[in-house]
Amino acid sequence: MPSIISASELTHAFGKGHLKKSVLCNVTLTLNPGEVVILEGPSGSGKTTLLTLLGALRSVQSGSLNAFGHELLGAKRSRLRQTRSQIGYIFQHHNLLTCLSAWENVSAALRLHPQIAKREYRARSVAILNAVGLSDKIDAYPDNLSGGQKQRVAIARALVSHPKLVLADEPTSSLDSQSGRDVVDIMQRLAREDGTTVLLVTHDNRILDVADRILHMEDGKLHK
Ligand code: ADP
Ligand code: MG
Repeated sequence: MPSIISASELTHAFGKGHLKKSVLCNVTLTLNPGEVVILEGPSGSGKTTLLTLLGALRSVQSGSLNAFGHELLGAKRSRLRQTRSQIGYIFQHHNLLTCLSAWENVSAALRLHPQIAKREYRARSVAILNAVGLSDKIDAYPDNLSGGQKQRVAIARALVSHPKLVLADEPTSSLDSQSGRDVVDIMQRLAREDGTTVLLVTHDNRILDVADRILHMEDGKLHK
């Protein structure tokens, strides 16, 4: 089966001239269909930078990055946009819009998919909110949800379009240990059901057991 992501010798720096700071150094990795991979490493080691590159949220500077069979080095904006629409993102802070209800926040992610009819938005959103255990919070606003519930809405938003790849950047770091556990268990279960690949950045060694594989990052270098 072809890989979901295949990165080779990815190198990335911020800034220019004498302020140039190297952040990623010759990172090579492959993500296969259906696997849950944890990426851990100290703060500042380059984990978020790597995730944003893999997620086509940043342009590749050097090396090769193949996502879903397409090279992203030198790719056009339309290709980057197309790649982003195939990925579900979950961030440290849920980033929900407070003026939208739970289902409206989830359905916002469907707008990237013109083939999905608007009249299906609510049913699809409700189905995935049920799957993350929020059947009684469909019409609730973020201000009336706990931290764990908000993060579960963010998971639902990332998964509602059934992406092939989910990138999660420290999704449990603002949660108590039980809510954090629940959130990763839900991610793992839904990913298994859908055959989704998950790359999960975490500092939290209580959740390492969800991984099929653990990668360590240090000073911009990846250690298996
Ligand atoms: P991590 O997620 O592992 O904590 P990051 O990828 O966020 O690491 O950051 C890696 C390094 O790159 C840090 O030294 C950080 O200060 C720097 N960095 C991150 N984003 C930027 C940016 N937009 N401009 C300049 N430096 C940045
Ligand atoms: Mg980070």
